[in-house]
Amino acid sequence: MIAPFAFAAERSLGRRYPEPPHPYRNDFQRDRDRIIHCRAFRRLEDKTQVFTTRYSDHFRNRLTHTIEVAQIARTAGGALGLNTDLCEALALAHDIGHPPFGHSGEKCLDELMRGFGDGFDHNLHALHIVENFEQRYAGFPGLNLTFEVREGIIKHSRDYAAGEAPELSEYLLEKKPPLEAQLIDFVDEIAYNTADLDDGYEAGLLEVAQIRRHVPLFDRMYATAESAWPAALPKLKFSEALKRVLDSLATDLVGHSARTLEQDKIESVEDVRNHPRRLVSFSPPMAEDCATLKRFLYAHLYEHPVLVADREQGSRMLTGLFAIYMSRPDRLPPSYRTRAEHEPLHWVVCDYIAGMTDGFLQRQFQELAGLNQRVKAVHLPKGC
Ligand code: MG
Repeated sequence: MIAPFAFAAERSLGRRYPEPPHPYRNDFQRDRDRIIHCRAFRRLEDKTQVFTTRYSDHFRNRLTHTIEVAQIARTAGGALGLNTDLCEALALAHDIGHPPFGHSGEKCLDELMRGFGDGFDHNLHALHIVENFEQRYAGFPGLNLTFEVREGIIKHSRDYAAGEAPELSEYLLEKKPPLEAQLIDFVDEIAYNTADLDDGYEAGLLEVAQIRRHVPLFDRMYATAESAWPAALPKLKFSEALKRVLDSLATDLVGHSARTLEQDKIESVEDVRNHPRRLVSFSPPMAEDCATLKRFLYAHLYEHPVLVADREQGSRMLTGLFAIYMSRPDRLPPSYRTRAEHEPLHWVVCDYIAGMTDGFLQRQFQELAGLNQRVKAVHLPKGC
């Protein structure tokens, strides 16, 4: 039972290469399963979310983050009456195109590509992965996902201006994506904001008093947890507060979005697609709370010297390896060398590096660094 504004699997615009229906799985369930079984999904296990595994085995990596996003997406999507199969498939795919070493890795790769007049975007890279790079099926390249999952991959976190991306014109760029895709960016934010507080506290880089002083939402939830469990251990009070933060964010998102859908009289997917603005959002007070939390994490966690040092090391290796492959394309694997015969080398190098795990990149760098003297004098591009 889904709401009339939810995207029913039977209404899908289908796959690029038609396939017979499955006897008991709908198309979005099949997409979810294809994503889980692909190689790019498994590689998320060794891609940094915020912390590398240098300090603890308990921190989130990009795979466990993705699982948390999928869990919140199913719960919030279900509460809104959306298609939870589509929510889940989109959540599982949302970071599949992420390069190694977290956001700094993405920024670094983007800077390197800008040097060639191009750029790098992990959502576009994700689209290339599911359309071409994954080779698992005899009948077609990629995963042959439904139109709505591919559309959600590129549109969940941004709208496109008219004529901005002609190569994506098939994805109804002038229209808003279904609610299931609109939900993803918000549940991603809920997952990483709470997880980063958790990992930052566990790492000893953040303290309760400091978080309470700067983050009113956490302070309110901590006060509630403390009055419910006055004798509990501090770390359990922290956990009780944190789960209340997560719950209040998700509850606000569901409640405010449901009210918006009702007020704007949204009764169908067409209404969603043709609406001038996105319909899923936090309430204005919660959006402010969330922005404050984000600012706190930037100032006190992401810019912490420990994380900055890790980031710089990752960026240095990524930049170095990029330079090595640009000057020694013979060191690329055969399939990438073949591509480089008819595509610009920097595209091929970028795609190869973007697909790497942190660990593989590190090993490749260590193995190849001696090959090229210029690598020793690599200068980090601005922003890396
Ligand atoms: Mg994410």
